Amino acid sequence: MPPLREVIARHGLAASKALGQNFILDAQLLDRIAAIPGPLDGARVYEVGPGPGGLTRALLRAGAEVIAVERDRRCLPALAELAEAVGGRLRIIEGDALAIDEPKEIGPAHVVANLPYNVGTALLTRWLEAERWPPWWRSLTLMFQREVAERIVASPGGAAYGRLAVLAQWRTTARLAMKVNRAAFVPPPKVMSAVVHIVPAEQPEGVDPNRLARLTGAAFGQRRKMLRRSLSAVDGALEALDRLGIDPERRAETLSVGEFVALARAL
Ligand code: SAM
Repeated sequence: MPPLREVIARHGLAASKALGQNFILDAQLLDRIAAIPGPLDGARVYEVGPGPGGLTRALLRAGAEVIAVERDRRCLPALAELAEAVGGRLRIIEGDALAIDEPKEIGPAHVVANLPYNVGTALLTRWLEAERWPPWWRSLTLMFQREVAERIVASPGGAAYGRLAVLAQWRTTARLAMKVNRAAFVPPPKVMSAVVHIVPAEQPEGVDPNRLARLTGAAFGQRRKMLRRSLSAVDGALEALDRLGIDPERRAETLSVGEFVALARAL
């Protein structure tokens, strides 16, 4: 394949701000990102937002079979060329990732994506709240702005710990796999980025995600208040604290993920 820069120039793929586009062109960096899920030889990968196809190429170099969904039609001819060059190992879906029914259209796959912040968090939340567990995805390797990545993997006690950490860590193992400097992107975004790697836990405690979301929403919505106060409007929460022996004078950010799950189950 011709160099990525040449493909971008030939197809006029200047990054669009409206679509949240920041491309990575450094093949070595892309190979390191593609290595995060582990060996991909013969594995199926679902890539969201391939853009001009830099990360897609790295995934293909790693031996993966890639299904990629891209909503920017300008990128499709470049991606079609790539698909032709790899003979059936790349399938492109044109459209919005938020409208894909993954269990049906994608099937078991590792997910890899470098997405705009709002789309990335919307998809992550949906993937974490999957009804069926283990879910259709084998792992998630996702680029976020660093501050969001830190919120996903945060431990209790700090300012980064909140709803997202509890939702993510309740039924997965999440780690910050790589920090990525803003200079690695074209054009460089305002903030630093990081890649998070998430693997589903085999047998997480069963709890209704909506109930857990309600609980963490109330608790962290007033994170400086004692639980006695912040959970007063959640039905049965104060009794549940008492039954579980959780001191109602504690604040939300001191509760472990396990304690939140136990509390949601006890409601
Ligand atoms: N993967 C490429 C890379 O790393 O250089 C491009 C990354 S760029 C930050 C994000 C890409 O996601 C863009 O190509 C954009 O068009 C695409 N995108 C944004 N929202 C999308 C959505 N809802 N569904 C599918 N693709 C989307």
